[in-house]
Amino acid sequence: MKITAPHLGNVYIAAKALFDGLGIEYIMPPLNNKEALEMGSLHSPEEICLPYKIMVGNYIQAIEKGADTVLLPGSCGPCRFGKYAEMQMNLFKRMGKNINFIVIDAPGDIGIKELYNRINQISRNSRKGKAGQIKALLRAVRVMNLIDEIEEKAHYLAGYEVNKGECKKLLNSCKRDAMNTNSPRDMIMVLEEYKNRLDNVKIDKGKNPIKIAIIGEIYTIIEPFSNLYIEDKLMDYGVATKRKLTPSWWVKDTLLKPTKLNSLKIKRNAKKYLSLGVGGHGRECIGEAVLAQKEGFDGAIQIFPLGCMPEIVSKVILPTISKEKDFPIMSLVVDEMTGEAGFVTRVEAFIDLLERRRKNVLSWS
Ligand code: SF4
Repeated sequence: MKITAPHLGNVYIAAKALFDGLGIEYIMPPLNNKEALEMGSLHSPEEICLPYKIMVGNYIQAIEKGADTVLLPGSCGPCRFGKYAEMQMNLFKRMGKNINFIVIDAPGDIGIKELYNRINQISRNSRKGKAGQIKALLRAVRVMNLIDEIEEKAHYLAGYEVNKGECKKLLNSCKRDAMNTNSPRDMIMVLEEYKNRLDNVKIDKGKNPIKIAIIGEIYTIIEPFSNLYIEDKLMDYGVATKRKLTPSWWVKDTLLKPTKLNSLKIKRNAKKYLSLGVGGHGRECIGEAVLAQKEGFDGAIQIFPLGCMPEIVSKVILPTISKEKDFPIMSLVVDEMTGEAGFVTRVEAFIDLLERRRKNVLSWS
């Protein structure tokens, strides 16, 4: 078995730690790129959402290198994501490729026994015993938490750094160095070292940078290629950003879902505007917008793929929040046709607007 997995933000780093720890052969697709999107689009229904297309591109690029098994997470509710795995399995069958798909669905949907069977398909190829496998899993979780923490810190501190570009440089070299390790233990050491280095970045506490919350559809906010590297660009502009949805958040949220204790704060804040789940993370998007305003952010940017059903629902509600709370929110839709120039212009115009609002408040006070 040569396993691969689609790119989902920083998951590839934790996936490397997991497969290295389990002693399983794996082939990670190249980081998301134009070719993956083009190939994925070519083999996908035109109207399907962007994440599906990029994922198909990931599989093709990994299969070309010898992968024969795809590991992917299952449904996140009543939207197209629930159909991704089935559609992708059929696609590769039609293409004449014999690819095994291991879909990790929530136990509430498929039952504990079936989940165990699916996990077993991976673990029986491991060279490690049960204790070693549990250790590998725990270390991969640790890696995921660490890299998400580092990224969050870097994105926020970029607004306060004294030496321009330092946080971005550290974040990029952290990911590169983590991927150059050969064992999960070494990877954790590298990540911890970078976490310390970020804690020691010289910051100017007197700075009051523009603060923007990144909200919206989880794939397009965590996967930089799909959002035209918006967080990198905001770091370059000296904006402090925060995004609550991360792969480690997703794991915790999915595990807690059956108890209904997941993301309580977000749900509580969404309640006035959207009290029910609408699939994907539409409700979370609303809760995060409300929270961002309460937490003193200057504005929020919602990002979602063209045709994303849950986020279209949120997009309709966001202007009410914006008006009621006097809180600017911009929605950006991405697909394979999105041009960088227009995208950047909108982001820059939004930052200008937030800066002007600050100046107006100061001149009136
Ligand atoms: S959340 Fe939106 S983009 Fe993601 S699968 Fe569902 S419809 Fe598609």
